[in-house]
Amino acid sequence: LLSTNGRLGVTIFEEITTLATRTGALNLGQGFPDEDGPQEIKDRVKAAVDGGANQYAPGRGIPELREAISSHQKRFYSLAVDPEQEVLVTTGATEAIAATILAFASAGDEVLTFEPFYDSYGAMIGLSGARHVTAPLNAPDFQVDLETLEAAFSSRTRLVLLNNPHNPSGAVFSLEALQKIVELATKYDALIVSDEVYEHLTFDAPHRPIATLPGAAERTITISSAGKTFSFTGWKVGWATGPATLIAAVRTVKQFLTYSSGTPFQAAIAWGLGQNDEFYQGIADSLRQKRDLLANGLREAGFTVHLPQGGYFINADVAPLSLASAQEADAALLARQLPELIGVAAIPVSVFCHPEAAQRNRSLLRFAFCKKTEVLEEAARRLGTLK
Ligand code: PMP
Ligand code: GLN
Repeated sequence: LLSTNGRLGVTIFEEITTLATRTGALNLGQGFPDEDGPQEIKDRVKAAVDGGANQYAPGRGIPELREAISSHQKRFYSLAVDPEQEVLVTTGATEAIAATILAFASAGDEVLTFEPFYDSYGAMIGLSGARHVTAPLNAPDFQVDLETLEAAFSSRTRLVLLNNPHNPSGAVFSLEALQKIVELATKYDALIVSDEVYEHLTFDAPHRPIATLPGAAERTITISSAGKTFSFTGWKVGWATGPATLIAAVRTVKQFLTYSSGTPFQAAIAWGLGQNDEFYQGIADSLRQKRDLLANGLREAGFTVHLPQGGYFINADVAPLSLASAQEADAALLARQLPELIGVAAIPVSVFCHPEAAQRNRSLLRFAFCKKTEVLEEAARRLGTLK
């Protein structure tokens, strides 16, 4: 009774990846890169293992990584976070999200997210017992309407949880929207939780953390992950930063979820965060090219493309396709047929929605473009056969 579609079953990522593997389809469903991050960061894992980093790490994370996260926040955003009290290393951003929601929300509270929303938000809000309230982000630009946002807040709003850049839409919140979120969170005394796992994957402008806005830092927990920045999604190194009292509450919950997180991976990411500016610019540039390649392929195949400003994903509308019209533009149905039909897997946006928004987004498919150029070219060719 807990997930977006009414139960905590198998996640959509698991379902579509299993289908892609069974059919041998190109997997543009689950968001993981098909090329690893830098070799020298990988070498650091081996060095850490050989150097004895094989027992439990401190619960809050190894000091080198907390220092590196603190320096990263200062270097990119001029945000000061104390590595001792204001940084918590977690097992992926997923654990930071879970621990934060469980720390602050319970029955009688409301947690406000934008919709579509990343699947773990719905599941964890359900597990916390709080009520999940949403504010819609609609195609084509997936920006929030500020009056609708205001109406979604209430005296019960405990947390407002945003994801910027946004999965699945690829939208980047406007400065105006971020300001409104801070204003409303302050008015209703809600905490802000900002999932910024795609912070280094922006295509038009550098990322702006909500915590940098006036009045925000004191009530904001910022979450990120090394998975996306360094293309090591399987290492599951994430973190939360924010005021000491808030991080202490998240840490209290984390103790009982995992106690601590993988020691050698932390050491490698601590080193990796010190990469030079060219590295950080390079990942965004390379991903922008991949975005454009797939966007062109999708347009040529007849989809309406909503070009993302950040992240791993393109949302494409299937409505103009002749194949889709026979199925009433039901992207959920198409997603389950495409692997067999043309050997390409994608994820329907409706799975990131409650029923009403699922209906509004029913013709959208999410395609991951964090894949090799040749894979994207082949996917575009196969999609072209749909016409
Ligand atoms: N938040 C968002 C918006 C994501 O897209 C993802 C995964 N792709 C996560 C959190 C989870 O991150 P991690 O793999 O570090 O747990
Ligand atoms: N976040 C990735 C996505 O949106 C998948 C992560 C997962 O499989 N849980 O595709």
